[in-house]
Amino acid sequence: MNKAPPPESSGEYGRPIMQGLAALPVFLTLKGRRAVLAGGSNAALWKAELLQAAGADLDIFSAAPCTGLLALAQRRPNINLVLRQFEPEDLAGAALAIADAESAAEAEHFQRLARAAKVPLNIIDKPDFSDFQFGAIVDRSPLVIAISTDGASPILAQALRGRIEAMLPGAIKLWVSAAKAWREPLRALGLPAKTRRRFWELFNAKAFASRAAGPSDGAFAKLLAEVESSAPMATQGSVALVGAGPGDPELLTLKALRLLQSADAVLYDDLVAPAIIEMARREAEKIPVGKRGYQPSCKQDRIISLMISLASEGKRVVRLKGGDPMIFGRATEEIAALRAAGIAIEVAPGVTAALGAAAALQMSLTERDKARRLQFITAHAHDGKLPEDIDWRALSDPRASTVVYMGVRTLGALVERLLAHGMDPNTPALVVERATCADERRIAGSIESLPAQLASGEAMGPCLILIGAVFAVSAAELPVRQTMETAAD
Ligand code: SAH
Repeated sequence: MNKAPPPESSGEYGRPIMQGLAALPVFLTLKGRRAVLAGGSNAALWKAELLQAAGADLDIFSAAPCTGLLALAQRRPNINLVLRQFEPEDLAGAALAIADAESAAEAEHFQRLARAAKVPLNIIDKPDFSDFQFGAIVDRSPLVIAISTDGASPILAQALRGRIEAMLPGAIKLWVSAAKAWREPLRALGLPAKTRRRFWELFNAKAFASRAAGPSDGAFAKLLAEVESSAPMATQGSVALVGAGPGDPELLTLKALRLLQSADAVLYDDLVAPAIIEMARREAEKIPVGKRGYQPSCKQDRIISLMISLASEGKRVVRLKGGDPMIFGRATEEIAALRAAGIAIEVAPGVTAALGAAAALQMSLTERDKARRLQFITAHAHDGKLPEDIDWRALSDPRASTVVYMGVRTLGALVERLLAHGMDPNTPALVVERATCADERRIAGSIESLPAQLASGEAMGPCLILIGAVFAVSAAELPVRQTMETAAD
């Protein structure tokens, strides 16, 4: 029989198929089910605490339990401490088993017994003999977050746990409890799926905005009223212009993250890092709309009509742009067209490349005596040449910092004009390529030296040119990740 080859990295799904998952995270309901623990050490005590917290009926077998275990067993009615060695029959009917094994031989013995009894087994600190592992846990029950590094680094898992704890709203526990209580009443209202989804999105927004407070009395009714009153707008779809920042995914705003995670479609630029696109809702349609290889203006029209048609289908569209959407991002045209089409718009700012570069360089763009003014310019006109209508006097002001976007191709011409307007040829200048990305590179020089330093001809990523007294630094002094090789080296 003719059979199509199985889909591998991509295929009938139209998206890459998930691969290489080190372990399947599952959340096991243990309430009222029997769990078995063989061992009486302090490590066993911690596992006993976890299992009893999860509501298991826990049988512990140990001839010599530690005092902590004795005390725990006394205080918790769902723990039955049996003061003898574990026997194979003890596994009967257990939902899971945990054992403390001193040697590999002992671990192997437990493993054999558990396999025979078909009970999933964890041997404390012996992953090679275990069917499942415990991760680091963030407990805001009913919200539970578990983190696994597949044994690679428990310390990293702990650190991640700390970060996640810090990110969670203080009262998330109360909000999740409320969600649990509201699920059924909401379902009983028989609202359309879209409205229910909007309810939960609004719920999320409130939970995150709440900081330390849980939902107030009557919050359910209030949320419902709010969802229903905004219904017509939302079913029409919407477009959010979202700044993705200069590259480092950590520079994404929480608002951008929220919009990405509730998007139906994400239209992204060339400059947006894949790690950021991956943060979008799994089911969202992800559409590259990079301008490379197209006539920029015609492509822009296509992007706009695509946004309008997606939003008109009722989708929540995220237009993800590098840096900040309002800086050299053609946002004006997009906003005007969307408004004309009657589509709801939202804008989430991002860290523009200049600010990312300043942070990476650890250099202030302003300084009391050296730089009282900061200007961002583009050195790229419609025709790809240096724009003629630049205020050259302002640009050659020795007390200003200038950040040039899209300036590599026209740098020679730019410098010529600056020198002609009397700017000091030794004015410090820097190039930062892929600011904030892992492969960021820099060149330090002066406005006079920079064009030759850049002319090495190698293919480059997006670059900023920074000009002004505040950028005085020798290549050796740059707080570098890696200094770009220059033509002079
Ligand atoms: N909206 C963007 C700018 C878009 S214009 C922002 O706010 O950053 C595109 C230009 O931005 C590129 O040609 C380059 O000059 C600059 N750019 C964008 N990302 C950059 C990065 N990570 N490093 C250096 N320059 C960058």
